[in-house]
Amino acid sequence: MRKLELHWQILIGMVLGVIFGFLMTQIYWGKGFVSDWIQPIGTIFVKLLKLIAIPLIIASLVKGISDLKDISKFRNIGVRTILIYITTTVVAITIGLLMVNVMTPGNGISEETITQLTETYASDTAVTSKLEEASRQKSSGPLQFLVDMVPENALAAMSDNKLMLQVIFFTIFLGISMLLIGEKNAKPLKKFFDSLNDVILKMVDLIMLTAPYAVFALLAGVVVSSGDPDLLYALLRYAGVVVLGLVLMIVFYSVVVSTFTKKNPFWFLKEISPAQLLAFSTSSSAATLPVTMERVEEHIGVDKEVSSFVLPVGATINMDGTSLYQGVAAVFISQALGFDLSFGDQLTIVLTALLASIGSAAVPGAGMVMLVIVLESIGFPADKLAIGLALIFAVDRPLDMCRTVVNVTGDATVSMIVAKSVGKLGKPKVREWDDHLEEVR
Ligand code: ASP
Repeated sequence: MRKLELHWQILIGMVLGVIFGFLMTQIYWGKGFVSDWIQPIGTIFVKLLKLIAIPLIIASLVKGISDLKDISKFRNIGVRTILIYITTTVVAITIGLLMVNVMTPGNGISEETITQLTETYASDTAVTSKLEEASRQKSSGPLQFLVDMVPENALAAMSDNKLMLQVIFFTIFLGISMLLIGEKNAKPLKKFFDSLNDVILKMVDLIMLTAPYAVFALLAGVVVSSGDPDLLYALLRYAGVVVLGLVLMIVFYSVVVSTFTKKNPFWFLKEISPAQLLAFSTSSSAATLPVTMERVEEHIGVDKEVSSFVLPVGATINMDGTSLYQGVAAVFISQALGFDLSFGDQLTIVLTALLASIGSAAVPGAGMVMLVIVLESIGFPADKLAIGLALIFAVDRPLDMCRTVVNVTGDATVSMIVAKSVGKLGKPKVREWDDHLEEVR
């Protein structure tokens, strides 16, 4: 019998996880059971993915750059990537702003709901800690993000997943220097990284064997720890605008894929769906990165020379879903609290949300921290920030899950476009036909 495809297995795991989580909320010992005995399985899975993220970035980036054999090729890919990333992010924020301005979800929100949400969440440590983190992040000048990108200790950077951009900086530096000393001299090091890369990809395969069970555990955990359902309903219009915007982004990617690569967008979405489902279950582009790379290289046919640079960089700096959400959330909060926004303010949101998406870490909830900075850039009153965050907090986790799917899909799309534009989009290595032959044999 043909084995169920991975994305179906994961999807079934997710659905069963939600049902199981819901049933457990109905039993009085259920929540404790899930958090003590089920959730840890999901946590171990996410830790395993994060564990290999940094070695994978290093090995594949070094391999990718040194395979190029020529520094001008690297420059070519680098410039294209950054420009396309900026373009997709601006498209995302624009979609978000257009929708929130047309649908004005904040205008319909009642005084009563605002009070209720404020009372429940404004002094919640989860909200206050986001404010603190934001004030730490913005305490310095406009070039701080460049300063932060350069590590002073490579090993220290590698020991913290939040410092992924620093690791990328160091690795690109290493890769370029390897190109400069010439193929012959760099050979031993290149061999080492090539082999490390193969080993880590095998680790991804092994970890993915447990994915259907892990997503079951992750989603059961999300369901039992989600907030008051009444407050969730109160925010349905706002959440609806964000989700609709995110769906439009997926449509946008599909159009881009079929226009620029002439590939069938449904095929593209199907092939990367395991990465999307994991993004949804883990809310972290960084944890999903190993799987995104595997899907894009093996199943879509993007050459490693491109994917090894485009994807790790994208996971850290390109967050289309996050910036769309930040645009919608900033305007929604302003509408609900009666803070008028001029056209100039909305333009400021485009710019700061673009920078914020570069600065957001690829971990759960990071987008909300940067939202504080977006709000401050439009002169939102400091004393109302906690209320603003409290307003959207109840639905932040589900929206985080959805925006992370878009973040990951955006990276995969851009890797295809860049690959196509430099003639590096080939045939997928793993084709269903091959799978089929395997079975027949
Ligand atoms: N969770 C998102 C990511 O990892 C970031 C965010 O929007 O909070 O891509």
